[in-house]
Amino acid sequence: MEAAITAMYQRLHEKLRTTVPDAEIRIKARLAAEINRLKQERNAVILGHNYMEPALYHSIPDFQGDSLELCREAAKTDRDIIVFCGVRFMAETAKILNPERTVLLPSLEAGCSLAGSITAADVRALKMRYPGVPVVSYVNTYADVKAESTICCTSGNAAAVVESLGTDTVIFLPDEFLARNVARETGRHIIFPSAMSPAPAETELDVQMIGWRGRCEVHERFTTQDIANVRAQFPDAVILAHPECSPEVTAASDFSGSTGAMIRYVEQTKAPRYLLLTECAMGDNIAAANPDKEMLRLCSVRCPHMNQITLEDTLESLQHNRHIIDLPADIIERAAAAVERMIAVG
Ligand code: SF4
Repeated sequence: MEAAITAMYQRLHEKLRTTVPDAEIRIKARLAAEINRLKQERNAVILGHNYMEPALYHSIPDFQGDSLELCREAAKTDRDIIVFCGVRFMAETAKILNPERTVLLPSLEAGCSLAGSITAADVRALKMRYPGVPVVSYVNTYADVKAESTICCTSGNAAAVVESLGTDTVIFLPDEFLARNVARETGRHIIFPSAMSPAPAETELDVQMIGWRGRCEVHERFTTQDIANVRAQFPDAVILAHPECSPEVTAASDFSGSTGAMIRYVEQTKAPRYLLLTECAMGDNIAAANPDKEMLRLCSVRCPHMNQITLEDTLESLQHNRHIIDLPADIIERAAAAVERMIAVG
């Protein structure tokens, strides 16, 4: 075991020595080595979202990625246990795609402001108001909302999913900014109906996208003024924005894409400096993987939900089988149909 701890310390030290104090790296290396031992013993796979804190991200996941990439890994794993180092809706998606496995979420505090913005009853009300109109739900939703949806999407494939339906009108839930960005990309007019109004007004009948006013509490904080300030100080910086940022922010940026697309963009371009308008841990993780490129930080914009997942909780999760994600069979079946339709689109 001591050899495994030493090897883990060396691995983390190489990646994180400029950002994490040495004493902390030693503590985290010991925890990570024990998690990896237990992972083998329990025949588990660990999936780590790009927003995990750097010491966790670079030590224990078998796979790292954005929601879609991790969904695909969850669907094909044959391990007994899936430990999801991400937030609850992601762990639910893993369960939906591979219901025979035990899916563990290390902290029940790992929610999401977007997923929490809409309920299955809200979706049913919209479907009654717009009968026959297909519902596209972002993967950042809970399983019962997915079960009410025609198809799911991620930030990386949202426009392609909308186009794949081939219909004039689409209900797109729940992220207001992603919906506005997709409406712009696909040339559609978008409205946000009032929840109080029982039936569509005459003027709503020809709308092409019907949105919802959910927001990511991290990405809504970035502004065009932030971009102007950085461009004034670092004219050579390349600015990348997540599509959950406002349309004004994505339009003022050089590139907009999912977290996975942002990582590939940084890896494949040669600019010396980048500003990532997304969750700050991801900037730390990309900086550790690309030491020759500078990642500018606006401030510490951490998702309070992703931040709940720690190495300590992950170890306890494997030790005590917690917290098990359990979903009703009919929800799994209906939600799986929506997720699998999305995966077929790409
Ligand atoms: S970063 Fe935003 S969308 Fe992602 S989990 Fe946090 S609140 Fe939800």
